[in-house]
Amino acid sequence: MHKYVIALDQGTTSSRAVLFDEQAQIVAIKSYEFEQIYPQPGWVEHDPAAILNTQTDALREVVRISGVPVESIAAIGITNQRETTLLWDRETGRPLHNAIVWQCRRTAPIVRRLCDEGYEPYIRETTGLIPDAYFSGTKISWLLDHLGLHERAERGEICFGTVDSFLAWNLVSGRPHVTDATNASRTMLYNIRTNDWDDKLLGMLNIPRAILPKVVDSSGVIGMLDPEILGRAIPVAALAGDQHSALFGQGCFEPGMMKNTYGTGCFLLMNTGEMPARSKNGLLTTIAWRIGGKCTYALEGSVFVGGAAIQWLRDEMKLIERASESEVVAKTIPDNGGVYMVPAFTGLGAPYWDMYSRGTIIGLTRGTGRAHIVRAALESIAYQSADLVRAMASDCGRRPEELRVDGGASANQFLMQYQADVLGCRVIRPAVIETTALGAALMAGLAVGVWKDMDDIRRVWKMDLSLTPQMDETQREKAMNGWHKAVKRSMQWAEED
Ligand code: ADP
Repeated sequence: MHKYVIALDQGTTSSRAVLFDEQAQIVAIKSYEFEQIYPQPGWVEHDPAAILNTQTDALREVVRISGVPVESIAAIGITNQRETTLLWDRETGRPLHNAIVWQCRRTAPIVRRLCDEGYEPYIRETTGLIPDAYFSGTKISWLLDHLGLHERAERGEICFGTVDSFLAWNLVSGRPHVTDATNASRTMLYNIRTNDWDDKLLGMLNIPRAILPKVVDSSGVIGMLDPEILGRAIPVAALAGDQHSALFGQGCFEPGMMKNTYGTGCFLLMNTGEMPARSKNGLLTTIAWRIGGKCTYALEGSVFVGGAAIQWLRDEMKLIERASESEVVAKTIPDNGGVYMVPAFTGLGAPYWDMYSRGTIIGLTRGTGRAHIVRAALESIAYQSADLVRAMASDCGRRPEELRVDGGASANQFLMQYQADVLGCRVIRPAVIETTALGAALMAGLAVGVWKDMDDIRRVWKMDLSLTPQMDETQREKAMNGWHKAVKRSMQWAEED
């Protein structure tokens, strides 16, 4: 009998379920969007019931539309939007508040206080993160304070979980209170070196250990799916944060291998092996996955405005009608004509970290036209990613050999070729670009023996496109120098009121 694996991909705007066969090919996909709640400017929440219902519906529907018999589904893996924070009642399972989404800035003042109190070096060293409202720790602290839950929390009457944890609790029989090491590593409460919650960090945010989930492997059976859901108990056998899952789904199993996801923003992760790497360039250190009790680590960097620059060309500047048109327009000119765009709409992240930087288009001449602006926007995605790759290469002292790519904008072949050109290394796009879901499916299948070992997984991983650099070293340096000059001009522009 054929075996199948399902990945539940619980994202920021939608809940998806993807059903894979033994060749790791997609058989069926179902996804449901859900509401984004903005109670105040800068605040973002999700309704926990909406997360759970859309995810359960997607699971049921994907099985139905695939026509695959439930008996042949060997395992389910869960991957999720990271850092988003939930609290629920341990007795009733009832959520105590809306989920506070990773994007939510409400806890920025708590982060400022921690930095003022001198915690920053300790946070960086133990968690691998740069103190930020993005991560779960300050969100838990805010919830406990605002809901007046400290005493109940101390008594262990409350559970904290990220979305993986919340789904596991609600979908798995026996209500396990677990999270995996990748999700734990995004809470700003987890010591990525000792692999345990850190008492000093918990004390700093006044969070009792009693509310925290048990930390488990990313690949491993945590329990059986509640038989009410599909009419049968199926092993739930993987939990992993979305970017970590994508790194796995891209087959980046060896140190030095890396992937970049080109979506609204870009997420670049590099496998750094069994030791956490320290970054001198403002990158995050994170747990890539934990299998058999052993952690693999990664460096992570993100580009705030990636594909969003193309949305801006389309929606605000009206220079193109569809994102894909950017490729056609960019190809109408042989080069950028000296025009650079720095899409620092919300400041710049690694390796610059300048929140006062703003969007800049520079190098304009009388001959500059629409194609130059469109091309400059596409090139900016490649330059920003190249900056991250260079930062990673310098942090771990190795030259990149190839970059594996996925995400919506990886469909743009001009952009992918330009990326290979400015990096001076191969760019590889896999056959399955649903790499986030694929990673969770592979980890779940690995845990139950659908795939025997990592070699088995390497065998099913298929490439679609491989691009080699066409630019020589002189052209590459000229392009990167132009970009760096443009970045300098964009910096320290905005002023605080
Ligand atoms: P997300 O998961 O962040 O919503 P997706 O992976 O769906 O993002 O990718 C959508 C983003 O990719 C959008 O910002 C869009 O502008 C960009 N995009 C999609 N197709 C193309 C293309 N052919 N060329 C350039 N950018 C594209």
